[in-house]
Amino acid sequence: MSRSSEELVRERLHQVSSTPTALDEEAGEIRRFWGGLGLPGLIDVHTHFMPERVLHKVWDYFDDHGPLIGGLGWPITYRKQEAERTALLREFGVRAFTAMLYPHKPDMARWLNGWAADFARRTPGCLHTATLYPEPDVETYVREAVEAGARVFKAHVQVGAYDPADERLQRAWGLLAEARVPVVMHCGSGPAPGRHTGPEPIARVLARHPKLRLIVAHMGMPEYEEFLDLAERHDEVRLDTTMAFTDFTERFMPFPHRALPRLTALGDRVLLGSDFPNIPYPYLHQLHALERLGLGRDWLRAVCHDNAATLFGL
Ligand SMILES: [Zn+2]
Repeated sequence: MSRSSEELVRERLHQVSSTPTALDEEAGEIRRFWGGLGLPGLIDVHTHFMPERVLHKVWDYFDDHGPLIGGLGWPITYRKQEAERTALLREFGVRAFTAMLYPHKPDMARWLNGWAADFARRTPGCLHTATLYPEPDVETYVREAVEAGARVFKAHVQVGAYDPADERLQRAWGLLAEARVPVVMHCGSGPAPGRHTGPEPIARVLARHPKLRLIVAHMGMPEYEEFLDLAERHDEVRLDTTMAFTDFTERFMPFPHRALPRLTALGDRVLLGSDFPNIPYPYLHQLHALERLGLGRDWLRAVCHDNAATLFGL
């Protein structure tokens, strides 16, 4: 099939998968998935909620196949109003989820944190999320967010284009390590590399803050094995599954088969993440992608729920 007709088919599938009936069916299948594992639901540590204006800009970027997404065709499956998106997560049986948001410039994080605190207050199931950026007042607003009850932080090294080991961030990392608040960080070089992505800059952060509860987003793709090395060296490093192992990702950043035993060994430090709503396939596909790794029921139970329940005390 030529590339363009393949894209047409994908577009059509995407439209079909977004109709109300298809969503009901998908919700049913997702519930059967976790019900079959004997779980009370799912916990998804990597979902995006942000002010509508910002989210629409992100969607426009995906529509335009921008360079940070590697110029890939990336139809957003769940392009819906905020209330519909949170209702969908409830229908899927996602018991707890995050509001991953991140600044791409200075003087933005504090405002995003204000929005996220309000979102968490008005949204059952949302783990209060905050973010940060290397700038003069970062320690102050990170402390304020932790005191206000932030349960998780998001840092985006690729979009933010900063060195995570930047001197201005040191006290903030120290504070988060001390408070044992996890940080989900997009620090791998997928889908496209940034100036400070890859395992090396974050290894420097961990050398100074070995107790930082780092959650490597996207399993660190495409540097999967280097980030597994980091997790094996540091007890507090975890990885989220976001987009990893899916048909979409396997086409251009396949997970190396030889590393599967390491996933089993790190089974208590791999956490379900999805990237909902910004995914070019149905949510259910991420779950099937984990299941078909063949690592077993206990592994799936831990990854899809129990590891995050322990980490966040849920
Ligand atoms: Zn994401």
